[in-house]
Amino acid sequence: MMKLNCLSTTKAISDARERSLSLSEKAGMFTHLLYCPYCRAFKIQCENMSGLMRAFKMTEKTNEK
Ligand SMILES: [Zn+2]
Repeated sequence: MMKLNCLSTTKAISDARERSLSLSEKAGMFTHLLYCPYCRAFKIQCENMSGLMRAFKMTEKTNEK
C-alpha cells in the first residue's frame, strides 16, 4: 500500500476536484486520512469551499433573471 505524506495528500484532495484520482491515489489518500486529523480537516474545508462556490454560482444564476 502506498503511503502518502501530508503534502501529497492535500495535493490529491485538491486534484480530486479537477480530475478523477487513480485507484492507488485514492487508496493512499484515504489511508492517510485515517490517521491524520490535519488532512481530514483540510478535506472538510475543501468540501465546504466547493459547496460554497456552488451555492454562490446558483445565487448568481438566479439573480440573472
Ligand atoms: Zn496529513
